[in-house]
Amino acid sequence: MRNFYDLTITELQDHLVQKGYKAYNADQIYKWVYEQKVFDFEQMSNISKNLRMDLSHWFQIKDLEIDSVQESSDGTVKYLFKLEDGSLIETVLMTNDYGMSVCVTSQVGCNMGCSFCASGLIKKARDLEIFELVSQITSVENHKNIRITHVVVMGTGEPFDNYDNVMEFIRVINYKNGLQIGSRHITVSTCGIVPKIYQYAKETIKTNLAISLHAANNELRNQLMPINKAYPIEEVLKACNHYFDMTGRRITFEYILLQGVNDSKEQADELSDLLRGINCYVNLIPYNPVLEFKYKKTDQNRANEFHAQLLRRGINAILRREQGSDIDAACGQLRYKKENAI
Ligand code: SAH
Repeated sequence: MRNFYDLTITELQDHLVQKGYKAYNADQIYKWVYEQKVFDFEQMSNISKNLRMDLSHWFQIKDLEIDSVQESSDGTVKYLFKLEDGSLIETVLMTNDYGMSVCVTSQVGCNMGCSFCASGLIKKARDLEIFELVSQITSVENHKNIRITHVVVMGTGEPFDNYDNVMEFIRVINYKNGLQIGSRHITVSTCGIVPKIYQYAKETIKTNLAISLHAANNELRNQLMPINKAYPIEEVLKACNHYFDMTGRRITFEYILLQGVNDSKEQADELSDLLRGINCYVNLIPYNPVLEFKYKKTDQNRANEFHAQLLRRGINAILRREQGSDIDAACGQLRYKKENAI
């Protein structure tokens, strides 16, 4: 039976009209499920008995099966969900002063092969379906009895390698009678698949774009991120400028600080020169060490210096605080450990 979380509002409307019901019924049902958190069609009291019965034959409303939950001392919660085919995916809940945010996984495994990232240790098995994306949010909301205000598509996988489902997912969670997650509160992070950045710029829902940059020149970025050989830095930045022109949304550049690799003062200068003139800010991320890799985290002093150097050079930058490092919160770590019994 089809999972209700797979349906955008237009698809539900079309389905209902085709079956002889009214399009506005779709909004009523959406409100029951996403606002009222009523999961039994029988209890949807403003809907006709016939439609309630049909709905229960067509759809099921089902959250993801929780395999395990790890709670960090800082309030970060990491879920390992088991999908119907047995695949395991990770979803992270973070509590911030501005609200509750969820980091969503977009694929089972990842093919991008970034040399520092635990996600790539397991190759992509498949893309996630729309309902598997949406129900990462609803499962966390319903498990904790909270409302999610912010969503980042920054978990395992490359969202632009599962473009269509990720866009439908955004339409579902953004809808006014649904989860109502504002477009300014939704961020998609990509390793830099250039043609998809242009496509993303044309979407009607204008969400935030984050680019995993991690290096200021092609030579180093080629080593860290194989995708750079297909789409080098200058093409990524050109696409980012276009994205800003089309949407007015400031670009976020993510930059993991790797000890002795990309964290020198000269590299901070190089990064500043590269980004000068682009409407953006840099998110400096402390590296979450992965057992299988040689990379080390930049120490706090050096990270502060790198940050200060960017600011001196006129680049907006923040040094992100570490969250959940005591619970394998680096992408893909929990799942990899489970599957390899580490
Ligand atoms: N494929 C997308 C989204 C998933 S990765 C992308 O590349 O943006 C989300 C972010 O986490 C990326 O910036 C990625 O480079 C970063 N990341 C991966 N492994 C990490 C680790 N061990 N510690 C800190 N950040 C990591």
